[in-house]
Amino acid sequence: MKKTTKLLAMTLAMVMTACTLTACGGGSSKGNTITFGTNAEFPPFEYVTSNGVIGEYDGIDMAIAKQLAESNGMTAAVENMEFDSLLVALQNGQIDAVIAGMTATDERKETVDFSTPYYTATQVMIVKEDSDIAAATDMADKKICVIQGYTGEICVQDMGYTYEAFKKGTEAVMELVNGKCDVVVIDSATAQKYVGDNEGLKIVEDPSAFESEEYAIAVQKGNTELLDKINKSIDKMLADGTINELAVKYTEEATAE
Ligand code: GLN
Repeated sequence: MKKTTKLLAMTLAMVMTACTLTACGGGSSKGNTITFGTNAEFPPFEYVTSNGVIGEYDGIDMAIAKQLAESNGMTAAVENMEFDSLLVALQNGQIDAVIAGMTATDERKETVDFSTPYYTATQVMIVKEDSDIAAATDMADKKICVIQGYTGEICVQDMGYTYEAFKKGTEAVMELVNGKCDVVVIDSATAQKYVGDNEGLKIVEDPSAFESEEYAIAVQKGNTELLDKINKSIDKMLADGTINELAVKYTEEATAE
């Protein structure tokens, strides 16, 4: 009897340790884990690799998430899902925070709270090297590809152009490479990565048509406890140059491949 109790206690202790280590049990930050939702299809911010900073996940955001959790004496875990599902999963409590190169738009601010912004980006156009597209208005009679739910889709929608939406950036870029579309509208740093990875593409910028966007971490509305922790860490990582260093490191790695 005693033996059984001891065994049970040991098993329980082991299970509990395993939970702390792997963050099983979902998205509760009550333990010592912050579960970040992301869409690991957005290099250099988040992508899957054999040996990432958080399990198989790597990129600027993943490195930020890891340091942010650790500076609060916590562990970072990642749940990878479709970009479109992130804010719903956050509202459901399946994840504690979203870090996904996510632009803090006014529309999104209606449903979630955002941290201090940590990165400024803009939408750009990826075209074939011989394309005559030189400004956003040149897209009017072209076949446009965007990624579903990204701010790039919203921009093209607001311009009143028709477009085709893909689930992944790589899919949209393949359409362009294969000559099935004329232009992909996507965030600047990710565009750089795709242009570096594929022959015969170039980036066209049009700052008059695309406003700058700020990436921030999202938490559930009113979760000030977590937001305060996140903001303190972000402020520190911005002030001491950590985020800048990570951006340079991962951008160089991305283009060097
Ligand atoms: N910044 C864009 C957005 O917020 C794209 C983000 C992403 O694909 N991860 O919609």
